[in-house]
Amino acid sequence: MTGAVRICWHCDEPITDLEDAVLVAQDAGNSGPGWNVWAHRAHADGMEPHPVAVRALACIILVARAFPQGD
Ligand SMILES: [Zn+2]
Repeated sequence: MTGAVRICWHCDEPITDLEDAVLVAQDAGNSGPGWNVWAHRAHADGMEPHPVAVRALACIILVARAFPQGD
């Protein structure tokens, strides 16, 4: 095994060539280290931010504001 399989967010195909994998986003997990969002190099060019990732991040920010921790 060579580690986790990276799936292209754009075409949902596995990225078999690590040289072809581009990190396009990082999602912060609510209770973990979060995860990386990958795309094929050809699919990463000129793409918009991942709508689901953006929505998830906005949701996390809203929750964090509604339930402040500490201070
Ligand atoms: Zn792809």
